[in-house]
Amino acid sequence: MSRFENKVVLITGASSGIGEATAYVFAREGAKLFLVARREEKGEAVASRIRAEGGTAVFHRADMADRKQIGDMVAACVAHYGGLDVAFNNAGIDGAFNVDTPDHSEDIWDDLLAINLTGVWMCMRHQIPAMLARGGGSIINMASMAGVKGFPGSSGYAASKFGVVGITKAAALEYAQRGIRVNAVCPAVIRSEMADRVFGTDEKDNEDQAGSWHPMNRIGEPEEVADVVLWLASDQASFVTAETIKIDGGLGA
Ligand code: NAD
Repeated sequence: MSRFENKVVLITGASSGIGEATAYVFAREGAKLFLVARREEKGEAVASRIRAEGGTAVFHRADMADRKQIGDMVAACVAHYGGLDVAFNNAGIDGAFNVDTPDHSEDIWDDLLAINLTGVWMCMRHQIPAMLARGGGSIINMASMAGVKGFPGSSGYAASKFGVVGITKAAALEYAQRGIRVNAVCPAVIRSEMADRVFGTDEKDNEDQAGSWHPMNRIGEPEEVADVVLWLASDQASFVTAETIKIDGGLGA
């Protein structure tokens, strides 16, 4: 039997990049997927592809900057599938890079905290009661290497991702005896639309340069994050909680 047969898995930011790759990995393991993003056409395309390959997936449009939409999202998932077992709170924006702290745009700062941090908190706020009703579950929050290590020029992004690590640990300790494990993943540069925007990795020279920052001398692939998320969600990680796992080709060593 597949590891996630009959398990309901909610993924935010599932319309591209790491979220999309994670959706396919869970689908292959038999999960019932509730895929969330803002871009309806792209999100629907991911869900359709999974269904065409024999999997189970629906798309739900929601903006992680909108607190009401986040509550409605979890309620819609529970209404559709009857519960929630796993959540990958992955949606996020890059905001501003290569900007010194005094020069950081206030608007971008607010967006970064609203989507990357408050969005994850609101997700957990609604997901935890839904998981308790089911007897437990597993939450994986998307942080970043920029959430465990300082990088110049990214103070807003750093604030949001260090914040994700903090709320992950707090929630994990609160629910450690009630069947819910909460962990975070901290990728370095991973091939995605975000990496293209921030580092220009769609150009070979830029990709090589970004790759050279990592001891493995390459950037990561979305599937290499997806596999870690799948493991964290699985029973194989049953004694793992409050952990932040670096997926970084050795960058943080
Ligand atoms: P991406 O741009 O391909 O994916 C981001 C996803 O989040 C998209 O589906 C997008 O539609 C969604 N999203 C953005 N804002 C949203 C909002 N307000 N409401 C709902 N959905 C929203 O890039 P990615 O690299 O796959 O990013 C996924 C996550 O990984 C982000 O949280 C990012 O910070 C994190 N991350 C990425 C890297 C990297 O190098 N790619 C490294 C570390 C962490």
